[in-house]
Amino acid sequence: MGNNLAPTMAIIYMNKLDEGILTTFDEPLYLKRYIDDMFVAWSTNDIDPTRLLKIANELNKSIEFTIELPKNNQLPFLDTMVTLNPDDGKFNTSLYIKPIHSQCVTPWDSHNPISQKRGLLIGETKRAISRSTNSSSRTKSLRLIKQLFRRNGYPKSFVQNNMEKATKTHHPTENDEKVIHLKVPFINEEYKRRTQAVIHRTGIDNIKIHYINGRRSARIFAPPKERQECPPNCITCSNAEKENCCLLKHCVYQITCMHCNAVYIGETGRTIGSRIKEHVNTQQTVHVHMTKHTSEPSFNDLKWKIIHTNLHNVRERRIIEAIEIKNTSSDTLMNGCVGRYLNI
Ligand SMILES: [Zn+2]
Ligand SMILES: [Zn+2]
Repeated sequence: MGNNLAPTMAIIYMNKLDEGILTTFDEPLYLKRYIDDMFVAWSTNDIDPTRLLKIANELNKSIEFTIELPKNNQLPFLDTMVTLNPDDGKFNTSLYIKPIHSQCVTPWDSHNPISQKRGLLIGETKRAISRSTNSSSRTKSLRLIKQLFRRNGYPKSFVQNNMEKATKTHHPTENDEKVIHLKVPFINEEYKRRTQAVIHRTGIDNIKIHYINGRRSARIFAPPKERQECPPNCITCSNAEKENCCLLKHCVYQITCMHCNAVYIGETGRTIGSRIKEHVNTQQTVHVHMTKHTSEPSFNDLKWKIIHTNLHNVRERRIIEAIEIKNTSSDTLMNGCVGRYLNI
């Protein structure tokens, strides 16, 4: 589901498949679907699950369905365990955690603010409550949450107190709307205490601080993205100072005329290769300059190099470009002016 549109497309497609599967059978009593997970109940025992699965799998050879049947009147669906009460024919639900679930939440000894761990516990407790239809299933759901957090090193009293807090319903008041939310990076508990003391001293009592973690550790350990290779015998790179750099973006570059050593300084947020191609092919400063030497300017009439990279901020990039222009002798400069006018 890497693409944002993928879930929507899957929903539309599965909706179409539903029709194909269900037209063969009587209308189900109950049908719920979440993307490609379906929960269907019929009021009859005449449905042959093997036949149902066979029909579903014949609709599209590249999609293989599996089927799960209830055991002891129970069937899990997503994070919910659905139990059929045979006496009144009603469904009861409680929280369900898959056996293959890693049983991991943010560990107690991880470098995260306690408020974040508390928030997680409260959120999970509320989710458990929302999945539960009666008091006994609620007790069951809450037990799962308790076990999950205890297994991840959360102290017993912390779990107990915060779960109790979460089970009490919160009624929003008028003051809730006036709260100012502030995001502050989390350094450690000591800094957190100090920032709170500063806020306290201001006497403003409707500020709520949310501590956020800076860099996610996953990002530190992730292998670097593979650098894109430019095509073999790349004509754009043929006269570059370094090979295989035409796909770089966000840089300040220098083009030198092979005939008279005149220099052009430029910046781009796009790939440098496409910008250099434009200089060669379109009626702009560099092209116009080259026509003094040759009727049809080509890559052979210039050499180019990148002087600064990783300049993602356009203002910063233009300042650096302007400085480079200023530092280049105006006798050899192709750029029309001595530096870009910056409205800082
Ligand atoms: Zn290249
Ligand atoms: Zn020249």
